[in-house]
Amino acid sequence: MSDERLTNAGFRGKGLGLRERREPFAPGESPKCECGVFGVYAPGQEVARIAYFGLFQLQHRGQESAGIAVADGERVQVHRDMGLISQVFDEERIASMHGHIAIGHTRYSTSGSSKLCNAQPILGRCSEGEIAMGHNGNLVNAIGLRRVLEQQGMEFSTTVDSEVIVKLLAALSDLPLANALPQLMQRLEGAYSIVACTPQKLIGFRDPHGVRPLCIGRLNNRGWVLASETCALPVVGAHYVREVEPGEIVIFDETGIREIKTGANSRQAMCVFEFIYLARPDSHLMGKSVYTVRRRMGNLLAQEYPAKADLVIGVPDSGIPAAIGYAEASRIPYGEGLIRNRYIHRTFIQPDQRMREMGVRMKFTPLPETLRGKRIVVVEDSIVRGTTTRNLIHVLREAGAREIHMRVSSPPYMWPCFYGIDTPDRDKLIASRLTVDEICEYIGADTLGYLSLDNVFKAVGISRKHFCAACFDGKYPIKIPKDMKLTKLALEEANEG
Ligand code: AMP
Repeated sequence: MSDERLTNAGFRGKGLGLRERREPFAPGESPKCECGVFGVYAPGQEVARIAYFGLFQLQHRGQESAGIAVADGERVQVHRDMGLISQVFDEERIASMHGHIAIGHTRYSTSGSSKLCNAQPILGRCSEGEIAMGHNGNLVNAIGLRRVLEQQGMEFSTTVDSEVIVKLLAALSDLPLANALPQLMQRLEGAYSIVACTPQKLIGFRDPHGVRPLCIGRLNNRGWVLASETCALPVVGAHYVREVEPGEIVIFDETGIREIKTGANSRQAMCVFEFIYLARPDSHLMGKSVYTVRRRMGNLLAQEYPAKADLVIGVPDSGIPAAIGYAEASRIPYGEGLIRNRYIHRTFIQPDQRMREMGVRMKFTPLPETLRGKRIVVVEDSIVRGTTTRNLIHVLREAGAREIHMRVSSPPYMWPCFYGIDTPDRDKLIASRLTVDEICEYIGADTLGYLSLDNVFKAVGISRKHFCAACFDGKYPIKIPKDMKLTKLALEEANEG
């Protein structure tokens, strides 16, 4: 593990111009999202360990790099590296990080390539001295903002949009933090759920549309926690208080909690794909259990697209709750037909060519005993490129499945995300090129049915007007600049061009 310790002096990053050209996805791999953020304020306690356990619960939101910043009242110390939380931090490292305030971040690259200088938290300066920041989301105006800051003489050490936020805040250093943050937010366009810490404060803020989640928890009646998802709260002994509202800033310090509301005129546009795939099923979003919503999606899918079959299976893990729901409503028995190897992730050793050809087999093993001779309903949460699903169906047929009825608990995924999910170009999204019948043929299923968007919202149980569903309907709630490139390397390319 490389050891990169950041100090007030700045990053040992590689700077701009160094372009690491990397295919966003390995062949057959699906697009990756997102990031997980966590924060804790607990006077009198050593909190690096709490941040570690909190981040552990958010590992599903990012597996490329991880980092924790701790503040002890006087200074902020950051450690971050490539890899999983358990690879980046060991007992010795955690024990060496002292302080009662901490933030943490797990990353999948959605802006900037996957390399150490782009790992978070990012350290900067504000009116209160050092500030460390962790960001989940994607700005749509990062390139323009960065150009202006560079013209003002600011130097950048990373190629991520998050550093633009840190530098913009530095440019507002003559204002008290509570005044600087609303001004900062006025200049940012896009999705951001952010945790930050100064030597004495824990801060959280969320874009006025509330695209990505962020919640507040109470720790032992003496401290506070911020987390991307509620599933991170119980493990650290915190209980759920509420979500950070869209456009809200919360600041925790020795005087208590300060809440500042901004963006009153913006419409809420929470990402509906969080309910479908991104969030963990044991989380609650907008007061709803993600597990229950997914199960209900399965119920509605069975009504919308029934099938004559002997067995319902889910594609582990994200397809399972909807598969259980499908079985429940269709009265077709539910069973396990696929075993997933859970230890394959981004930092997994590169497979050699022979293994790569085996593709999906490395991740999923079929159970012929369950499948042989049967008509199977296979429930999946989404089809993005179609490659994994096609391979999976091939594997199921080889294992003896007689018929395969593919059911997807979301609508056809047709439009790229600009707000924090690393989706491929539009022409790689299978549903933007092919009709449902053509997709069915391509993946090799006997029949294919997608849940309608109306039923997605029926399952969620909250009005559609509070959501962003642009990946399904192409209606983007935050204006996308005409020249915005759909690539996480946009800042790298802009600086080269
Ligand atoms: P494919 O057939 O190649 O489109 O892959 C479909 C699989 O990708 C499904 O199992 C989805 O759960 C999964 N998936 C959907 N969105 C994402 C994402 N943002 N990151 C990783 N996997 C995803």
